[in-house]
Amino acid sequence: MSDCLFCKIIAGDIPSDKVYEDDDVYAFRDIHPKAPTHVLVIPKQHVATLSDCDNPALLGLLMNRVRTIADDVLNLAAGYRIVINVRAGGGQEVFHLHVHILGGKKLPF
Ligand code: AMP
Ligand code: ZN
Repeated sequence: MSDCLFCKIIAGDIPSDKVYEDDDVYAFRDIHPKAPTHVLVIPKQHVATLSDCDNPALLGLLMNRVRTIADDVLNLAAGYRIVINVRAGGGQEVFHLHVHILGGKKLPF
């Protein structure tokens, strides 16, 4: 998607603070962190929003990468929170599916 911010980040057209990349996913630090550690994990395939994604393999892979990035790359052994905002009413501002990983402090609900 040529007009998608996160597709441009994956392509390297917009700079990002990358923490992990493989053939399927890309992970980078949020530009406006809401916790000491705040990373976004995105599929390389453009999917606008969770509710558009009828692909269990992609969603399973994404969640499995979130799990290993949190533990093995970000070292969030104490714990973390994941958030997926869905559509504007759910707070979604960038319409490329992404999982927020938040950690590094005790998180109030
Ligand atoms: P959401 O509200 O769930 O769509 O989250 C979008 C997130 O993307 C927000 O937390 C923004 O701070 C973050 N964001 C927007 N632009 C960039 C960027 N260029 N690099 C890193 N994070 C960004
Ligand atoms: Zn995209």
